[in-house]
Formats: sequence, structure tokens, C-alpha cells
Amino acid sequence: MFVVLLGPPGAGKGTQAQRIAEATRLLHISTGDMFRENVKNETELGKLAKTFMDRGELVPDEVTIKMLLERIGRPDASAGVMFDGFPRNVVQAQALDDALAAGGNRIDRALLISVPDEELIARLGGRWICRDCGRLYHERNDPPKVAGKCDHCGGELYQREDDRPEVVRTRLEKQKPPAALIDHYRAAGSLREIDGQRSLDAVTASLLEAIR
Ligand code: AMP
Repeated sequence: MFVVLLGPPGAGKGTQAQRIAEATRLLHISTGDMFRENVKNETELGKLAKTFMDRGELVPDEVTIKMLLERIGRPDASAGVMFDGFPRNVVQAQALDDALAAGGNRIDRALLISVPDEELIARLGGRWICRDCGRLYHERNDPPKVAGKCDHCGGELYQREDDRPEVVRTRLEKQKPPAALIDHYRAAGSLREIDGQRSLDAVTASLLEAIR
């Protein structure tokens, strides 16, 4: 099974993808996490990606698609994947479709998590990430047991550079799933829309129902 999670920044894609990957046997692939890992390790790819990420802009398709295709070519991705943060546009969606088709697969479900803008701005401000394992927390909606510390591995929590208010506005403007991308999956019959303005558990339950 191959599933894509769509939604604006702050809709809960990362948190829900982690939960769904735990509840199913799907491999969680997040292009944002891959870029952040490269930034942390100061690779050439990371240095390039950072110039876009810091401004809240998308990394160019050519670079992103190459990285993603390399990742899904590895053996652990053959049984099923939960894509989080990819595709962001039709060019990326088409590249993913083509790569899956070459292996006799396709996107079985595209899950669109919708949340109003005002709520997204509030959410992105309160977000914390573990420096070691990448787990996500939220001050208000999903706090760690001990402030500043990861429940999972004890790592230090930090806030993303691109969660600063001025960058958040650009990300919301430039990174909402474009209508053409949503139409791409609607036309393929794989789109399911999920109301993201509910509790984390309620959203997880709806997402799981939509892929089962
Ligand atoms: P995310 O964690 O999904 O919010 O991604 C963080 C940043 O990584 C984004 O603001 C983009 O700069 C970059 N990024 C992640 N996924 C993609 C993608 N599919 N296409 C282009 N840029 C991406």
C-alpha cells in the first residue's frame, strides 16, 4: 500500500504520519525530515536545501524528486510507504506515479487533512521537535511529559527555524497543496478528505479508517 498525506504546513501531517506508520506496517518517508537530516549533517544537499527552507520556500523539484526516488528505490520501501510532505505539486506527483508504476504499484490513497488558516498559525508557533529522533510535540495539543525533553528517547527538543511567524506566513502562502495536486488524486479516485480540526486521536482514527 502506498499512501500520500496532503495538507498545509501545520495540518498535522508529520504527527499523523508517525502514528499511522506505528499502527500499520508502512514505512514513513518525510522529505522535510530528509532535508533536515542533510542540513544537520552539513551535506551539499543540506546546504542547498537550507537556502530555500530558511525562507519558507520549496526546494526545487529536480533536487527533491532525485532525493525521493533514490529513497524509494531502497528495499525497505518496496512493501508500502506513507509519504509525508511529498508530493507538493503535480510535477512531483507525476514523478512519483511514474516511479511506482515501473514497479507495478500506484498511490492507493491520498489523504487530505484540512485545517483553517488561523488554526495553522497558532499550531506552527507551538511546535517542538526532538533533536535526536525527530519526534514531534506541541505545547498545547501534544506536550511532552517533561518540558524540553523527548518522551521517546530523552533527546533535547527544539523549535524549527522556519516556524518563526514571518516564515510561517510565507510557508502557508507557498505551500498549501495546490488545487491541481488535489485534482490529480481526485481524478485517480484515491482522494479522501479528513477534517483536521479535531483531536489528534480522532484524526488518526479517520485516517486509519480511510486506508483500511
Ligand atoms: P516539511 O517538514 O514538510 O514542512 O518541510 C520542511 C521544508 O523542506 C519545506 O518548507 C521545504 O522547504 C522543504 N521540502 C520538504 N518537502 C518538500 C517537497 N516535497 N518539495 C519541495 N520542498 C520540500
